Amino acid sequence: MTLDKITRDDVLRSIDEYKLIGQKSFLDKYGYGPSVRYLIAYQGTAYDAKAILGVAHKFSQGKALRPENFSGGQSHTIQTLRNLGFEVQDSLSRVSRISSRLLFKQFGGQCAFSGCSTSYLRDGTPLLEIARISSTNPASPRHEPGVIPNAPENLIVLCPTHHSLIDRDPSRFTVRWLKNLRSQRIAQFEIRYETPSTATNTRTTVDLPECIQVWEQEKGNSDEEFWQSYFQDRPETLALALEGRAYCLKSKCYVGGKTVENKQGNEIDFLAQHRSNAALLEIKPPTTDLMASKYRGNAILPARDLIGACMQILEYKNSLAFNMHALSFASSDLQAFDPRALVIIGNLEAEEMNDIQLRSFELFRNSLNGIRIITFDELFNGLRQWLDLTGNNG
Ligand SMILES: [Zn+2]
Repeated sequence: MTLDKITRDDVLRSIDEYKLIGQKSFLDKYGYGPSVRYLIAYQGTAYDAKAILGVAHKFSQGKALRPENFSGGQSHTIQTLRNLGFEVQDSLSRVSRISSRLLFKQFGGQCAFSGCSTSYLRDGTPLLEIARISSTNPASPRHEPGVIPNAPENLIVLCPTHHSLIDRDPSRFTVRWLKNLRSQRIAQFEIRYETPSTATNTRTTVDLPECIQVWEQEKGNSDEEFWQSYFQDRPETLALALEGRAYCLKSKCYVGGKTVENKQGNEIDFLAQHRSNAALLEIKPPTTDLMASKYRGNAILPARDLIGACMQILEYKNSLAFNMHALSFASSDLQAFDPRALVIIGNLEAEEMNDIQLRSFELFRNSLNGIRIITFDELFNGLRQWLDLTGNNG
């Protein structure tokens, strides 16, 4: 037997037979088991590399090779197939650095699970992983014969928690479910970063590294108006927090709620508007305390300003929903379908909470329905990481 005489055409005939009778019959017929490692990626489908080559021998020299006749490893099978111009994937190999960068960019540098805020580098180590939606390995949770393991459409960006969650419960997180999630997230970020100029006509060209620099210098600034004009001048800095879309900000917006005497109208710090929806924004300086005194046992109370900001934004949200008809009459492009409500407040890094305080803070903010609380350091760390992952940092 010699592998050298096998031609590309012999391999294609072998693939044809495989397609005709199906993987199982093909492998059974010639005595092969499914390949756990090397796969030929051909026209969008993966084929067991060793079996295909062994059967190609039949078309070349009259007799198919049995698996024990030759090695399926790197040196023989793989090199022969690669020399014939076939793409052979090692399903155990990692996704290449270039593909990972592109993938992280497509997912906006965030875990694909909606509502998961894991997106930050911690101690310089990326916290996100690349998961495969389906696998050619029959032992893995979402087995699908023929899938090309490292093909971009089979990859999704997840945090370690959600990665193990989907693997633990494949009946809930099916291939179809994950594919759906994947395309939703990618479509979302396409709007975000690829075509921001169409999203709003008042878009400024903001230098994001410069925005981070100003944040570094002004961390200790407790002037609320300073931060309001900061975000008004640099709406792009809110991109990650506001689902990444390019928003234009209208400061001190009236969101309804006036009495018949024309008093007590609600004015929110900002109404951020995307072409298809609005978001409410309440900004408190980074110097604002997040947590206050101990309550009882292990519970710590949120600080007065934090509760106040949440209450305020709930009022605005309610008022906006209630007055939407009247307001949209005045501004025909304004829409608010369950608008996002975002409170930007405080600085976790500077507040140096102990474990109990941090726990109470996380419990509090994660239990809020419809309001997202993000601290200044989280906002800017996220921005920095996004710039880093996408190579946009100048
Ligand atoms: Zn996650």
